[in-house]
Amino acid sequence: MAVSGKPLNERPAHELTASILSGNITSRQLVEAVFHCIRATNPALNTYITLNESEAIRKAEEVDARVSAGDPVGPLAGIPVALKDLLCTRGLLTTAGSRILENFVPPYDATSVARLREADAVIVGKLNMDEFAMGSSNENSAYGPVRNPHDPTRVPGGSSGASAGSVAANQTVLALGTDTGGSIRLPASFCGVVGLKPTYGRVSRYGLIAYASSLDQIGPVARNVRDAALLLNVVAGHDPRDSTSVDLPVPDYTAGLEAGVAGLTIGLPSGYFGQGLDDEVRAAIIGSVEVLENAGAEVREVDLPVACHPACSVAAYYIIATGEASSNLSRYDGVKFGRRTEGHDLIDMYCRTRCAGFGEEVKRRIMLGTYALSAGYYDAYYLKAQKVRTLIRQDFERAFESCDLLAAPVSPTPAFRIGEKTSDPLQMYLSDIYTVSVNLAGIPGISVPCGVSADDLPIGLQLLAPAFKEDRLLRAAYVVEQELIR
Ligand code: GLN
Repeated sequence: MAVSGKPLNERPAHELTASILSGNITSRQLVEAVFHCIRATNPALNTYITLNESEAIRKAEEVDARVSAGDPVGPLAGIPVALKDLLCTRGLLTTAGSRILENFVPPYDATSVARLREADAVIVGKLNMDEFAMGSSNENSAYGPVRNPHDPTRVPGGSSGASAGSVAANQTVLALGTDTGGSIRLPASFCGVVGLKPTYGRVSRYGLIAYASSLDQIGPVARNVRDAALLLNVVAGHDPRDSTSVDLPVPDYTAGLEAGVAGLTIGLPSGYFGQGLDDEVRAAIIGSVEVLENAGAEVREVDLPVACHPACSVAAYYIIATGEASSNLSRYDGVKFGRRTEGHDLIDMYCRTRCAGFGEEVKRRIMLGTYALSAGYYDAYYLKAQKVRTLIRQDFERAFESCDLLAAPVSPTPAFRIGEKTSDPLQMYLSDIYTVSVNLAGIPGISVPCGVSADDLPIGLQLLAPAFKEDRLLRAAYVVEQELIR
């Protein structure tokens, strides 16, 4: 029965789809292996908030019946996919990692979820995350912290910590995460899996609970580059329900994977290799850039003066993101949905509901954002941050005039310890130093495993490309994966 000898839940999606179609294995066997693994490991890792087991088994049986009858099935037929709990799922609890949505059962599916269902994927369950995606360590969840499968005393990264952790622990084959300032790439690098943040507008945000609407993107998390491409194929594309989704054709992202990097120019932004970068991370990144060079890429240094400057990028990001969050989160008032705490009048009810429903970090962001948007300070903070955002975008545009890709670290260090940064929000925000500019510019980025530290902790290489060049990212990541990981 075994194709590669590995347990079913550990195999690549692209192998499993072939095995299911040929009748070598059934989706039901695969889904049972996944739930078996979840039962064994979830108490320690705390990755799933909600399991969808009976529905998953029913869907697997439906796929198996269609395969044996010779009926057509979708591209992810019978493949287990887990979802960050920020994506609305019809009839299935969706908490955003928050108490305030502890009872929220959406009446509709996010477009990305609907596309997974049409592709005949099996929805395994909903994954833990930092509350409303605010965090870099997955310690800001109302449902408890997630632990890194490589070392349970360490964080998995955030905010999609469980998207990366569940994939790394073989508790699912694929997962969706979201990335507003690094939340797919950072956990992917800490957990040793592949995570891709698509171009802003590539994947519909309809049904994605909003954090910072001008930055949020949904993207794939997988154990290998080809699987990430398969999942992106399914969720990418225009959606009339999201006016910011772009009406451009979606290429087959698996088609050009093996094209290599010969003839491509890769830029190394010098500002991303300066002070504060851990030596082991630096060595791993430089080593993987050499791999790309040996495969025929030309490497050169580039300067991104604003994008690489934390006083510009991290500051602008935390003003824009918190400003948008303070506006987006005003809808949680205990009236139409979510948790309510009664009060003696309407205003008192709002106050009590929001006091009891939101966690510390979310309250901090709402206050910061409201302050930055307030009449007397708008020009000094929000408007200025928008100007910096334009300069960051121009930095990347200039770099991409002479380079096809940029290579950088994802994070200054490998996964840090649980509790290490929780008392110092600024230290936590600085974990995002290499990721936030990418969201401000709207361009795509990928994290691909490129080495391990002396403590056996994974290290990720970040590759960046011009808007809508996800195919180029995947192609280069595939070279690194083939050379370094197998
Ligand atoms: N760590 C960043 C933040 O807390 C990014 C989060 C994200 O990408 N969702 O805002």
